[in-house]
Amino acid sequence: MGLQLSYPIKAKEIRIDEQKCEGEGLCVKICSRGCFVVEGSVAKVTDKDLCLVCHACEVVCPEGAIEVVEEVLGTDVEAAEASA
Ligand code: SF4
Ligand code: SF4
Repeated sequence: MGLQLSYPIKAKEIRIDEQKCEGEGLCVKICSRGCFVVEGSVAKVTDKDLCLVCHACEVVCPEGAIEVVEEVLGTDVEAAEASA
């Protein structure tokens, strides 16, 4: 039996700014989940639901073209922020 992990956050959206992307594929290499491909010299998202929200792609992208938008699961974020 393997260790089972559950993640309290997931990627709501993975945005790629195609105007900034140079298509050299560093995001493809760094992402352990295969969330990116380069098509036509621009990075595309394959499946955001594979994402572990590690943010490595944002860090590695030399153009600052990637934004991983987090979604917190099972928590009322708006209520927590409102009472903060
Ligand atoms: S690392 Fe950034 S610039 Fe390079 S292909 Fe990916 S999104 Fe484009
Ligand atoms: S946050 Fe991590 S798992 Fe998600 S797309 Fe980026 S590198 Fe891949």
